[in-house]
Order: sequence, then C-alpha cells, then structure tokens
Amino acid sequence: MQVQNFIDGAFSGTSQVLDNVAPGTGEVYGTIPRSGPPEVDRAMAAAKRAFPGWSSTPVAERAACLDKLADAVRRHAAMLAEVEAKDNGKPVSLASQVDIPRAEKNLRFYASGIQHYASQSHAMDGEAINYTLRKPLGVVVCISPWNLPLYLFTWKVAPALAAGNCVVAKPSELTPVTAYLLSTWIEEAGFPSGVFNVLHGLGPEVGEAMVTHPDIAAVSFTGGTQTGARIAGHVAPKFKKMSLELGGKNPAIVFADADFNQALRTTLRSSFANQGQICLCGSRILVERTIYDKFRDALVAKASKMVADLPLKSTTKMGAVVSEAHMEKILGHIDLAKQEGGTVLCGGHRVHPEGGEAGFYVAPTAIEGLGPECRTNQEEIFGPVVTLQPFDSEEEALALANDTRYGLASTVWTTDLKRAHRVAAGIESGIVWVNTWLLRDLRTPFGGVKASGLGREGGFEAFEFFTEPQNICIKL
Ligand code: NAD
Repeated sequence: MQVQNFIDGAFSGTSQVLDNVAPGTGEVYGTIPRSGPPEVDRAMAAAKRAFPGWSSTPVAERAACLDKLADAVRRHAAMLAEVEAKDNGKPVSLASQVDIPRAEKNLRFYASGIQHYASQSHAMDGEAINYTLRKPLGVVVCISPWNLPLYLFTWKVAPALAAGNCVVAKPSELTPVTAYLLSTWIEEAGFPSGVFNVLHGLGPEVGEAMVTHPDIAAVSFTGGTQTGARIAGHVAPKFKKMSLELGGKNPAIVFADADFNQALRTTLRSSFANQGQICLCGSRILVERTIYDKFRDALVAKASKMVADLPLKSTTKMGAVVSEAHMEKILGHIDLAKQEGGTVLCGGHRVHPEGGEAGFYVAPTAIEGLGPECRTNQEEIFGPVVTLQPFDSEEEALALANDTRYGLASTVWTTDLKRAHRVAAGIESGIVWVNTWLLRDLRTPFGGVKASGLGREGGFEAFEFFTEPQNICIKL
C-alpha cells in the first residue's frame, strides 16, 4: 500500500518516501510520504482558507459530515481491522472488537455531542446578563501515536472538527494506513476541501514542522512524555493551547479482600492486552502480602500459557509489538530488570511464531523482587512486561502507587466500599478503576496528572479545549 498525504482535498506524495513494515512478519509492505515543511505549509494554508466557511457551517451539517465518515468506517470495518492488525501487529480480533468499533463510535459520539453542547449564562440580579460564546479556535494540529492508531486519531479529530476547527492531523509513521484510508472517505463524507488534512512522515520532521507553524491555534498531542515536553517547549512560549496525553506507569492494587478470580482475570488483561502497549495498562502490580504468593503463582501460570502468534490469525490473543526498535527497547528493559536484581517469573524473551519468524514478538513477562525506586519500576516500558510487589497496609499500597513521576490510570481491587473510595481518592492519577479496567464512558474526562499529561479529553472536556470562551456582558 502506497500511503499518500491528503491536503486541500487532494492526494499527493513526496519525492522521498519511508518504508512501512508489518511487525508480524518484519516485511516492508508499503511506503509512506516523508513530509516536511513544504507539505505542512500547504496544509496550513488550505486549512486557514477553509476556516471561515467551516466555522460558520451549521452545527447539524458539521455533525452530518462526521456521521457520514462514521458510516464509511462501519462499511469498511472488517477491512480496517485487518489493515490495523497488519500495520500495528495487534491481534485482528482486538482490532475488530475494540479499535475499529471505537473509531466509529468516536466520530458518532462527537457528531452527537456538538449538538448537545451548550454554554453558560450568568444573570446579575437584574442588572446585566452574561453569556459565554464558545468559538472554534482556527487551525488545530492533532498528532497521535501508534498503539491504538485509528482509535486515537479519531478521538482527536472528531471533537476538533465538530467544534468548527480546521484540522491538520498526523498519525504515527509506524501505523499510518488506517488514517490514510480514512482520508480517502473525507470528501464523500462532505467535508469541504482544506477542512481536514492528513499528513504522513516522521515526528521530528513533519510533526515538528506542524507544531512550530505560526498559523496554528492549538496542538492536541498523544504520545511519549519526552515528545510532549519537546512540543510544550515550542508551543507554550507562543501561548497556544495544548492538550498533552502522555506516558504512564500505572499501578494495579490488589487487596486481600478482592474477588480473587475477577482480579486475576482482569489483571492479566490489563497487563498484556495489545501486548502491553496501551497507555492505561497496569505495569506495576501491587498485591497485599497475605495473598501475594497465591496471586503471583496464578498470574504467572496463566501468563505462561499466553502464546504470541500472527496478528492476522483469528485465534491470536497476543500479537507482535510495533517495531524492531520497540522490541529491542522492551528486551533491553528486561535485561535491566535482571541487572537490578529482579527475578523473571515468566517470558523475558523474543518469540518466533511459525510464519512470523522475523516478526517482533515478546513473550508475556512478569518480574518480581524489585523495589519501587529502581528504573524498572520507574520507567515506562510500554510492552508485555509487568512487575509484582507485595504490600502490608493500605498506606503502603498508596505510597507505592504514588511513587512515580507519572499519573495516568490506576486500578484498585477490593470488596470494601469505604476502602475503595478512600484509596481511589488518595491515588494521584487522572483515572481510577475500581474492580474493573478499561471500562470507558466517553462522556468522562480522560487524561493524566504529573508527567502523564496536561488537560483532559473526552466528553465536553474536548469541546472546552477545542473552543475559546468569550464572555459577553449586556447591561439591562
Ligand atoms: P511518540 O511520542 O514517539 O510519538 C507520538 C506521535 O508524535 C507520533 O505521531 C510521532 O510521529 C509524533 N512525534 C514524534 N516526535 C515529534 C516531534 N518532535 N514533534 C511533533 N511530533 C512528534 O510516542 P509513540 O511511541 O508513538 O507512542 C507511545 C507513547 O504514547 C507511550 O509513552 C504511551 O504511554 C503514550 N500514549 C499515551 C496515551 C494517553 O492517552 N495518555 C495514549 C496512548 C499512548
């Protein structure tokens, strides 16, 4: 597949291209444009030209365009799931049950949401009335990562477009294909030329040119903390709005009074779903000492039976990690854990499934014996690697959970209602799940604290970000 840029309603390539690799086999199977400042200039100019028209288009018409795009995603859902699995390495079953339905849902959710979005008014005791206009910002940049490619791409562009902004978006260069396919349906969905532009290429080249462009009004970014800091360095001094959804080192706290089997089943999923490459995955499992051995043994027994296999096989539950470089990074972290004195309880090595011998597979890995301060328990690995640590008291569990620079998501397992509320409130993270994981209501605020990000997405929070409030005060 030869991926192309979509700028001002037309497809174009670049003189230089990048290889696109299928992680399941390690094969190059397509190319993507290697875009840079010239492509960004063209996309920005087109978006700027389109803004007056799009921002004054009736809300119902903007919503209809998003709904038509969602129709296209639904029509092509099976094909998109296969493409996502091939491009990312994730199991096709996951892509067809989670990624693609969610991409459709994102578009429909914000198509509907914008029609229910209202602003406040404040009456001043008969003297005056204030009301707030929420105005679209202008041209906004949306940059997304590779772990949930179409899912996170649509999560950003849908509210931005619904709110009346024009968009210049970029998916990860590692997983560009589903965003490219989406761009082939933008015109038939009714978006005028220039409203929604999709660029491809390397983050430090085209991404950097996007976030430093003088004509942008805001940046919505999801990716690594280091990249987020770099982007903030460009955007903050220009006083542009930015929303940053960054990395995590999420704790899963299992108290002795938890429903053991449910905690076990879900912790297995929160550890290894999508090969551990979900920003919300729990990578530090904290278990009350009285059940520590039993929980560890049960988790390790189940994890040892999980077999990484070809992404496109319908029976595959665990696929490949996204790239060779990422696989090497994960294996490097496992080596580091051993050097730090950790014991690898299962996995810890590369896997070569039949038919995907050169693909990038890592066995589910659990490690114990490491203290909270070591690099293994502090740095985000973003692969199928978890650590286990015992704790003796609620206070200790909370201290361990919060002993990190990150604060994205946490999971608490307990049947004690008071404790559930107490511990949830004490955790420094944007999201806390109690007795569940990854149960998402799209109306809720989504995002992290500390080094996990700045700002919130989700529900009306996204519209607050993608609009500028203007207070109008009328003397009566
Ligand atoms: P990354 O930071 O390397 O890249 C993310 C995106 O930014 C890509 O599209 C990339 O091309 C682009 N980019 C890279 N350098 C850039 C630059 N200098 N200027 C502009 N754009 C640039 O992250 P990744 O490896 O693709 O994704 C994994 C990371 O994303 C993990 O840390 C994970 O925790 C995080 N993540 C966070 C969330 C969340 O909601 N908080 C969700 C998913 C992933």
